Amino acid sequence: MSLQPTSPSRPGLRLGRRVIHQLRAALERDTGLQAASYLQEAGFAGGEELYTEFAAWLRASRGVEQPPDLDAEYLSAALSEFFAESGWGALSAQALGPAVLALDAAEWAEAVDEGQGEFPSCHLTCGLLADFFGRLSEGLVAVMEVECRSRGDARCRFLAGAPETLSTLYERMAQGSSYAGALGLSSGPSAG
Ligand SMILES: [Zn+2]
Repeated sequence: MSLQPTSPSRPGLRLGRRVIHQLRAALERDTGLQAASYLQEAGFAGGEELYTEFAAWLRASRGVEQPPDLDAEYLSAALSEFFAESGWGALSAQALGPAVLALDAAEWAEAVDEGQGEFPSCHLTCGLLADFFGRLSEGLVAVMEVECRSRGDARCRFLAGAPETLSTLYERMAQGSSYAGALGLSSGPSAG
């Protein structure tokens, strides 16, 4: 009897971006607002494989044994290069205050170029990054997208942080605050 072992050296499967766009369009058409959570769930399931690839890539390209060992100073450059090479698009990281990491992508694969949407809609990515950064930080991480090319913004911006930090942020935004205002980054009045 031979069981197929799960090999960490299996090459990652690449699907074109049209697959993701079509999946979202079909789910939104048939399930409405629930589409977001289906896509997040699917993305979350992909985090482990992507993280395993990242670990192997870091070892090969930087000689870093485990991703958590990577010096924070080099995190943004490493992420940007890895995600660009993996087909998602360059992703840079910067701290926004003490508890939130902003992940910015000017040309993210899940975003559509038409820019007609009303809300940020890279749902699959939110799930994927939540699992990925949870593994990287060895804790629970929540991810929320606050700017999105699919609704006409210049970039997609994902905020990552502890679940309680992000739910506080979400509550403030639901009350009309901008995310910058909710994070205490802007002193001006919220645009509402
Ligand atoms: Zn987006």
